[in-house]
Amino acid sequence: MVVTSDLFGGRRGMMLEDAERNVVTAPMPGTANRPGIGSTSTRQPGIDGSGCRCRAGGVRRQGRDFPRRRDLEQTATDVIVIGSGAMGATIAYVLAHNGIRVICIDLDVRGAGVTGSAFGWIRTTHTSIGSELNRDAIADFRALDADLKGALSISWTGSLTWFQSPEHTESHLRMQRGLGLPTEAVDAEDLTRLEPSLRRRPEIAAYAPQEGAVAPGRMRRTLLAAGRDYGAQVVEAPVSEIAVGIDGGAQVFSDAGVFNARYVVLANGLGAPRLAAQVGTVLEVESSPAIRYSFGATAPLSQRVLSGPDYEIRPWHRGMYLGAEDYVTSEDPHRPVIRVHRALDAIRRDFRLRNPLQLLDFRVGYRPMPTARRPYLGVLLTAPQVLVACMHSGITLAPAAALQVLHHITGTAELASI
Ligand SMILES: Cc1cc2nc3c(=O)[nH]c(=O)nc-3n(C[C@H](O)[C@H](O)[C@H](O)COP(=O)(O)OP(=O)(O)OC[C@H]3O[C@@H](n4cnc5c(N)ncnc54)[C@H](O)[C@@H]3O)c2cc1C
Repeated sequence: MVVTSDLFGGRRGMMLEDAERNVVTAPMPGTANRPGIGSTSTRQPGIDGSGCRCRAGGVRRQGRDFPRRRDLEQTATDVIVIGSGAMGATIAYVLAHNGIRVICIDLDVRGAGVTGSAFGWIRTTHTSIGSELNRDAIADFRALDADLKGALSISWTGSLTWFQSPEHTESHLRMQRGLGLPTEAVDAEDLTRLEPSLRRRPEIAAYAPQEGAVAPGRMRRTLLAAGRDYGAQVVEAPVSEIAVGIDGGAQVFSDAGVFNARYVVLANGLGAPRLAAQVGTVLEVESSPAIRYSFGATAPLSQRVLSGPDYEIRPWHRGMYLGAEDYVTSEDPHRPVIRVHRALDAIRRDFRLRNPLQLLDFRVGYRPMPTARRPYLGVLLTAPQVLVACMHSGITLAPAAALQVLHHITGTAELASI
């Protein structure tokens, strides 16, 4: 049985399950002759049907017998996604939409991760390596948004970026274009048209008309709800342990019980290294703080994302704007507040505002940042049943990453090994 839909649902995906027998027919990664859709030739052991109870036999941790936990309720599914931030929610939605049985587990489904503290700029830039994902990111985001009939409420108004010197902005433009990322040079006159309220304009700015902004908390909530509509189960519980078996299955131990699956996806941000280590892989991920703040203005300000040397802002709700700043933890602990006030002063200066801006909210979020500055998106060499999706910028890259996970699981393309 093949489930199709216009975009994310059926564009590149296919169903794993043979509906009649209720067995999973995913080809093994690395299999040279992949079976066709619905073939049962690579029937996966250990998956006995949706929501069934089954035994934990045959599963081992790396190097030692896995402790049997017969006392815990056990549930079997195709894929377990750990984490329901932007990454996990998008993956769960895309898989469920393609007929794959998914359980998404998060210790706090209301949003304990960094997603709720993000700025939400959907952008592709030469500064984030992983250009293949970057290349597809915006097109895939647009496809996801269209698939959800605009429920993500993305504002596709583009962005304007400039640096301290025109030379620096020109070099940014060259690098963006070199990567095939559509970016136009705009001068002060163009800026008057694009951003009439901005009075102190740079000589030159880089305009990326295809970019957008999304409310990250709303994005994850919308995707989780839509994923549920396609049958994804969302479970609130901390995952303490994962294990892989010699029979090709994986187990996830949580406060809500034990879950058996063909694949486990680590989409749990800063929590991914701990779980990957349990199956023998070291992931190097830094916790990188950044500040998000919101403020109110009595006059209209920007109409799109503006990223200058002194501030990064975008419209939020009526009369309210969001700002973001990097934050170096080694700095003075009061530094974030000082930084935000400095940014507000610069905004007031550039928009020639009489009244001060009103700071409404201020938070520091901790971004999962792979130390090699490359997204972790792949299969663990030590445990091919375990996939990892941990990266910066995880909001922008989530739809592109989710499609790659789907391809891997359905056997239409393989993820790289980690
Ligand atoms: C101020 C700021 C601005 C940003 N701006 C942007 C931007 O403009 N564009 C952009 O693309 N990105 C931006 N980012 C980065 C972006 O927020 C992250 O890359 C993205 O949200 C990561 O999503 P995630 O789902 O991987 O992680 P998270 O949102 O952290 O989700 C991980 C989830 O896993 C759960 N979890 C962890 N461990 C376990 C466990 N053991 N058991 C069960 N659940 C577990 C957590 O509860 C959490 O819900 C910004 C970040 C900050 C702080």
